[in-house]
Amino acid sequence: MIPARYGASRFPGKLMQDLGGKPVIVRTYEATKATKLFDEVYVVTDSDIIFNEIELNGGKAIMSKKEHDCGSDRIAEAVEHMDVDIIVNVQGDEPFTSKLGLEQVLAVFNGADADKIDLASLMTEIYDWKEISDPNAVKVVVDKNNFAQYFSRSPIPYPRDKNVSVQYYKHKGIYAFRKEALMDFHKLPMRALEAAEKIECIRYLEYGKNIKMAINNNEGIEIDTPEDLIRANRALKESSTTAVNNKYRNFPMVPKVIFGQGSFDQLPSILADKRKEQAPFIYLVDDVFKKNEAFLDKLTLRFNDKLLFVSTLEEPKTEQVDTIVKNIKNEFTYLPSGIIGIGGGSVLDLAKAVSLLLTNKGSAADYQGWDLLSNKGVYHVGIPTISGTGAEVSRTAILTGPEKKLGLNSDFTPYDQVVLDPDLTQGVPKNQWFFTGMDCFIHCVESLNGTFLNAFSESYGEKAYDLCKEIFLTENLSDAESRAKLMMASWHGGMSIAYSQVGVAHAMSYGLSYVLGTKHGVGNCIVFDHLHEYYPKDVALFKEMVKMHNITIPQNVCSNLTEDQMETMIDIALSLVPLWENALGDDWENIMTRDKLKELYLKM
Ligand code: NAD
Ligand code: ZN
Repeated sequence: MIPARYGASRFPGKLMQDLGGKPVIVRTYEATKATKLFDEVYVVTDSDIIFNEIELNGGKAIMSKKEHDCGSDRIAEAVEHMDVDIIVNVQGDEPFTSKLGLEQVLAVFNGADADKIDLASLMTEIYDWKEISDPNAVKVVVDKNNFAQYFSRSPIPYPRDKNVSVQYYKHKGIYAFRKEALMDFHKLPMRALEAAEKIECIRYLEYGKNIKMAINNNEGIEIDTPEDLIRANRALKESSTTAVNNKYRNFPMVPKVIFGQGSFDQLPSILADKRKEQAPFIYLVDDVFKKNEAFLDKLTLRFNDKLLFVSTLEEPKTEQVDTIVKNIKNEFTYLPSGIIGIGGGSVLDLAKAVSLLLTNKGSAADYQGWDLLSNKGVYHVGIPTISGTGAEVSRTAILTGPEKKLGLNSDFTPYDQVVLDPDLTQGVPKNQWFFTGMDCFIHCVESLNGTFLNAFSESYGEKAYDLCKEIFLTENLSDAESRAKLMMASWHGGMSIAYSQVGVAHAMSYGLSYVLGTKHGVGNCIVFDHLHEYYPKDVALFKEMVKMHNITIPQNVCSNLTEDQMETMIDIALSLVPLWENALGDDWENIMTRDKLKELYLKM
């Protein structure tokens, strides 16, 4: 239910204002409908103009008969005679209402404590004291199970002891009600607390109802003023040009890169310019370097700079990012001058994500997807110590989260500075060199054989592909040459997929890695070994490389999976729509069925 009053006090007629060629209310209606979460979506309005506009656009609208003080009353009247369990109140002036938020508010009714809940709503973490003390932002405090205790326009709690770290939350105006709760509300008279604060949902608390809150940190744009409308129009324009898979991509490249044997020694002078007073540089370094004195001597830590060794036993997780960010925020008063990631793809991705989460609130898991981040990260420098992933150039930071393995893909993700020193890759064990190097080879194969291919991707992809053949199939390179070339192959391979996509091997490897924890490079090789149906010539080349370097590719990794594990693996793989579209074209869903995927996995 989308309550829509024509005459808003601050911005009259705002719901009928133009937003990218359609009135705001129509945008909200369409966005809500597009979530496919609801059996029915209605606009409930007091205005003929809005009613007609919705019907004209093929939507459903209901005229409310009476005068109403608030949106809930308007909705209550509309649903009184409908046979419904749960009603969600979506604000008419929030045209970018996110599916995630609505899913979260509905998911509350599937939790273990569902029968205690009368209604559910959302809250956002806030940090800025200006916002915390702003009476236009309604704050909420919750108990340990996230049941609301009180809503107020004052800052709650009052921070008498400034050293206690408390999380402040702002209330977002999305509610999901059980029908009884909504009908009760309608009948109950307003009491003093609600009247004084002018906050509707206090009435539920005053009458002893339970409101469960879910945390949602996605920033929508609420249209309260003409300036909001301008921002919304701009956001709409940007989102339609940066969407995934569209024909054009306006993507950022790493603005500064230094290359060559010994270039790592230039790091202190590169950083000198970027140091902000009292703000440390944080080094995230792969823990294989923990005992490497020669390497550690080159890291010149100054003032309050901090060195954190990172274990790469497991690939980076959203939780790990959240913990590092929290520790940095607790330890330092100022945001760091920079984050420096030194290691393989794992550390490079972790460092990008930490930089981004220092300036974007909430958990890294909130941003797994395309273009979800709103703020530029802290200055970040990437220094690879093993080559192949292309993580040093890419626009993504791949993380495993509670629900999926997916990257933080955004214009803010790429490094501000990269240092490519082939000497740093000296100690890499042979198997690892091969698996990570094959990641690059497979990036090229999947990009060059994909339907998204264009001259831009092809030019980088072909170069990297040829370099890989030279490195992995000939014997005429010195160690130093081979390391330098692989470093550049990784870079070009990464650039190639920046304007196309990866394909079958990566989609399936993500499934392995989510369910079995298989590492990216190994997972790709396990899968690619069985993909002759899709990439015949290159799978043959790959087998030659495996033989020449005497590498053992793990076999039968899926033979002992439970039914559930197999289903999850298939779900994860199939969720990577752009990868399949690239690999198999628009008709991919008919080609790559669940049965087909299962059959492939069982061979591996
Ligand atoms: P990795 O970073 O996990 O490192 C592999 C192993 O090599 C680790 O044990 C590490 O300690 C060791 N190592 C690294 N440098 C070394 C050195 N100089 N000497 C000795 N040992 C060294 O492996 P990877 O293959 O580079 O990266 C895999 C990760 O990259 C995955 O998490 C994957 O999701 C990610 N990835 C990211 C992108 C991207 O575009 N962001 C692309 C592909 C893969
Ligand atoms: Zn890869």
